[in-house]
Amino acid sequence: MGSTGAEVPVLLVRDLLVEFGTGDGRLRAVRGVDLDVRRGELVALLGESGSGKSVTARAVMGLTEPGQTVEATEMRLSGTDLLTSTERARRALRGRRMSLVMQDALSALNPVLSIGDQLGELFRVHERSSRRVARRRAAEMLSLVGISDPGRRVDQYPHQFSGGMRQRILIAMAIALEPDLLIADEPTTALDVTVQAQILELLDRLREQLGMGVLLITHDLGVVSEVADRLFVMYAGRIVETGAAAEVLDHPRHPYTRALLRSVPQAGDLGRDLLTIPGSPPSPAQVPAGCSFHPRCTLAVDRCLSERPLLELVEVGRGAACHRSEELSDAAAI
Ligand code: SF4
Repeated sequence: MGSTGAEVPVLLVRDLLVEFGTGDGRLRAVRGVDLDVRRGELVALLGESGSGKSVTARAVMGLTEPGQTVEATEMRLSGTDLLTSTERARRALRGRRMSLVMQDALSALNPVLSIGDQLGELFRVHERSSRRVARRRAAEMLSLVGISDPGRRVDQYPHQFSGGMRQRILIAMAIALEPDLLIADEPTTALDVTVQAQILELLDRLREQLGMGVLLITHDLGVVSEVADRLFVMYAGRIVETGAAAEVLDHPRHPYTRALLRSVPQAGDLGRDLLTIPGSPPSPAQVPAGCSFHPRCTLAVDRCLSERPLLELVEVGRGAACHRSEELSDAAAI
């Protein structure tokens, strides 16, 4: 990975708050999130749907909706202050220095333009390339993301590609201008398991090859365990656990992470019932007092109902927001 302590992270976010206006007042979907991604690093933001992951990603990208407010004490892209950047400057950063890949490749691509025209437009607009050069660069990008026979396929249309290939094309578009940061929001959700693995391998290879930071938004622990260097686990708009992916997955220090892990099929589980987490994540309008996970937590004690646990350092490079995280360090104890 090759990062050093002195290196400026490609993404630094401190105390991010995102609120939406509704008929019933303001709802806070993201409640004080800290995040950082280093160059060449793949960081996963993990949580169930509705935890605030995608809202966080869109806030970083500057893609806010009407009535939405975004505040933070710090938000920087490779040192550039995103909080004081004008909307025009933010637009210029999107695509060139940070880009977003979503899960729905078919609707993200224009059905009436060839892939070469769509990819090539990036080079024509941003690098003022001629049509001929743009087409050649587009074919190079197809090759880079593992699409064979790129010289021919560059003239084809989205419907002529499989779902996995279309996802590769979206990734090609996102990395064409070699951004510092790629945010991939559930990029493999709609794909079958084999194709998922191929897309993850591609992201893994590209972040190393291009030295970019990748923030992978996912609800899928299987995806995380394949490729992530570090992990941020999100619940009800907050980060509840963070650390090196291998350590968090091997020794979770938060009951939510532990419950997520226990709900994933493991080798040897054949014929055994999977444990599911009871209930569902709270809506931003009804976040419980105290620890927001307490109605679903099998380890909750009285204190959890009234006192919100802060995200605290539990080991070097590891954070957890749980009153009982110390006990969880000895997993056999509880
Ligand atoms: Fe469970 Fe309490 Fe920890 Fe929250 S603080 S995760 S309710 S044990």
